[in-house]
Amino acid sequence: MPREVRTTCPYCGVGCGVIASRDAAGEVTIAGDPEHPSNFGRLCSKGSALGETLGEAGRLLKPVVNGRECDWDSALEQVADGLQRAIREHGPDSVAFYVSGQLLTEDYYVANKLMKGFIGSANIDTNSRLCMSSAVVAHKRAFGADAVPCGYEDLERAQLIVLAGSNAAWCHPVLYQRIMASKQQNPDLQIVTIDPRATPTAETSDLHLAIRPGSDALLFNGLLVYLDRQGERNELFVKQATRESETALAVAAVDAPDIERVASGCGLAAEAVERFYRLFARTERVVTVYSQGINQSSSGVDKINAIINCHLLTGRIGRPGMGPFSLTGQPNAMGGREVGGLANQLAAHMTLDSEADRERVKRFWEAPAMPRQEGLKAVDLFDAIEAGRIRVLWVMATNPAVSLPDSDRIRRALKQCELVIVSDCMAATDTMELAHIRLPATTWGERSGTVTSSERRISRQRAFLEVPGEARPDWWIISQVAHRLGHARQFPYQHPGEIFREHAALSGLENGGRRAFDISLYADLSDAAYEELTPRQWPLTAATPTGTPRLFGDGEFFTTDGRARFVPVSPAAPRHLPDRDYPLTLNSGRVRDHWHTMTRTGLSPRLASHTIEPYVELHPEDAARYAVTEGALVCIESPTGSATVRARVTPAQRPGSLFMPMHWNGQFAATGRVNALLPGVTDPLSGQPEFKQGRARVAERRFAWHGFLFSRRQLQPGGADYWARSRGAGFWRYEMAGDQIPEDWAGMARSYLCSEGREVGWMEYSDRAANRYRAARFVDHTLESCLFIGPDLQLPPRDWIEALFAKASLDAAERASLLSGRAPDKSADVGRIVCACHSIGEKRIQEGIRVQGLNSVEAIAEVLRAGSGCGSCVPEIRAMLAGG
Ligand code: SF4
Repeated sequence: MPREVRTTCPYCGVGCGVIASRDAAGEVTIAGDPEHPSNFGRLCSKGSALGETLGEAGRLLKPVVNGRECDWDSALEQVADGLQRAIREHGPDSVAFYVSGQLLTEDYYVANKLMKGFIGSANIDTNSRLCMSSAVVAHKRAFGADAVPCGYEDLERAQLIVLAGSNAAWCHPVLYQRIMASKQQNPDLQIVTIDPRATPTAETSDLHLAIRPGSDALLFNGLLVYLDRQGERNELFVKQATRESETALAVAAVDAPDIERVASGCGLAAEAVERFYRLFARTERVVTVYSQGINQSSSGVDKINAIINCHLLTGRIGRPGMGPFSLTGQPNAMGGREVGGLANQLAAHMTLDSEADRERVKRFWEAPAMPRQEGLKAVDLFDAIEAGRIRVLWVMATNPAVSLPDSDRIRRALKQCELVIVSDCMAATDTMELAHIRLPATTWGERSGTVTSSERRISRQRAFLEVPGEARPDWWIISQVAHRLGHARQFPYQHPGEIFREHAALSGLENGGRRAFDISLYADLSDAAYEELTPRQWPLTAATPTGTPRLFGDGEFFTTDGRARFVPVSPAAPRHLPDRDYPLTLNSGRVRDHWHTMTRTGLSPRLASHTIEPYVELHPEDAARYAVTEGALVCIESPTGSATVRARVTPAQRPGSLFMPMHWNGQFAATGRVNALLPGVTDPLSGQPEFKQGRARVAERRFAWHGFLFSRRQLQPGGADYWARSRGAGFWRYEMAGDQIPEDWAGMARSYLCSEGREVGWMEYSDRAANRYRAARFVDHTLESCLFIGPDLQLPPRDWIEALFAKASLDAAERASLLSGRAPDKSADVGRIVCACHSIGEKRIQEGIRVQGLNSVEAIAEVLRAGSGCGSCVPEIRAMLAGG
């Protein structure tokens, strides 16, 4: 294997370039690639910690069928048999693939080809449905193609950046760092954030509109009306390059006739709305970024078209520093769109409802079958499984038992499905636990292919690690199944480069500029050139060999008449509004240092230290109303499920709203899944679920005991009604609570901690009357595990225990302090970790500000080092400096 490899980060849609280096001992070092145009050497906390997430821990290393390990040949035969049987007995629509934006484009292409061309069904959908499918539909309605007009460079050339439903500081951190660097160089750059929550992004913006959840379309309709009345219409552009402007304006004016009506409907001050509108009106170079806060809605498509309408009216599209800009969540959500990985697409931006497109793809693939209608979108697909219409489901590189809404129902559907096949790199995920056939896939560092970022930039992911066990690339697994279904000739692939060339050739086939996605430049790429491929933005054709930074500069769109469409938008409220039983709006989203269901980031001590438990944020007024105290465990209930999580009381939350992170699942917490609480409500046009506006109620949950446990081994905290585990440096940490006081604390402690037969030392302290118990276990004088139990939340500082785990042995005083439950030195308590790179806690930074007079991000970085690493914590430090 080569020593230094240029590859791409596997997390968010920014698509940062990474240089992975291996030394002679096999140690991997990760650095940002200074030559990659997405990040120019920067990496956020997640990207920087990639080296901590490699290795065989937790990996699925052999195929498993019905609980027994077997060889690949047997497993592939069983997959092919299962598919064939269902197709023979119930037709092609009785099988489905549920794939992922984590797949590489080559994997995606082969999966889509097998399902649509050879099984003859369109029942392949992807978790990108949950991420950006509303943007796909909105782009097609407005531009005639799913084409993102802008690139990251436009953010640096803009004079106004509007971030709508985007916490870029946490969700697209390197892009946010680029925006902030640009603002430092150009103080006139204005940033407006539209978000119900005061996120780290909002807190560092020039204007934050803490909008009523779901009222974005009204705000942008109001902007459209305002721009027109202020004479900001670009007459020439609107006349020559668009249609339907008058209808869109008339419809917008119905609900948004003036600023007062908009402000009242959006729950904002009229002055704030007017300030935003004036900024937009007077600034030529405006980029409006939208992300999951807009997309994940039952009217997400309309919201995006309301945004695009404003750019069309002002002609602010297709020129440097301006345009509507969709940020994708996943590393290859865009690649999935290119190959047609969504159930309502065909391939290479062709459609299922066009006979010419179907015939063209069928001919190119030499396919025996081609569906005439679109397949089932994610939520509908699982409904069909529950109804027994889908008999065989193959899940690839995703975890729908956690990530889909109404996830308890998704679990029930998976349990009753006749055959569930899961390809994944990890052995234990909530979905894998429900699989009949488990197929070990390669993962980042081991696999090779391409991904496309939010700005249409295709980059290479390259392998630099040996493949562990019997893991195989997804494209290989799918191709081998295709062989066993009788299609070996059409799936002859030995190398991902062959697949990429075929994909590129299809994109150019009879295209003639009619389809936006065209990478025909690469149709004859040699294997060597594929290896050397440098990051470029499509379209990539003979006429545009270096790529296309922005689209629509010529005023030509991909509609039949070449004109963009205004789309009339009537704002719609979220489908499930709060009511008497569930009086709060429930929002969900990401935390800074975790990715999706934590299968990779949950392995990194550095990343886990930022947020160690699932939590809910609520406003102080709601905390008072529902008698919830900071740090308490609370039960959140909705019509579909419940969860128990830690309460964070913060004015960053809008009164009447709750926020829960999306990452926690059955592997990391007893009951922390927010998607169990959210209904399977979707946008009728895109099928994207409404993850941002559920409804719920909150109540503090009383437990008979609280505790925590540290162990060098991963344990099963049976007997605890609440638990959440997180990785530390050399230990696992468990926060716990229980409804019943055990008869025998010592017995419970030993059942948790004592499973090894090695020489051990055991210490314990028990005060039954006070309901306090402490125990510690030593192996060869090293602290191996310890347990602290009390009647309430007054437990020893965890930082102190962490420090003890870093020591090879403990002296008598330290052992005594463990039993007394009192840290000898209070300075050990640094609080919640803010800077993951240098492990600097919240309390240390606050002390630096208060006591040492550190009054800038730079001063804190210089004296404390916080914020001097990847920079992901800088927005939080700024908020602390501002008194937040
Ligand atoms: S911003 Fe962070 S998570 Fe996203 S691609 Fe870059 S390094 Fe990876």
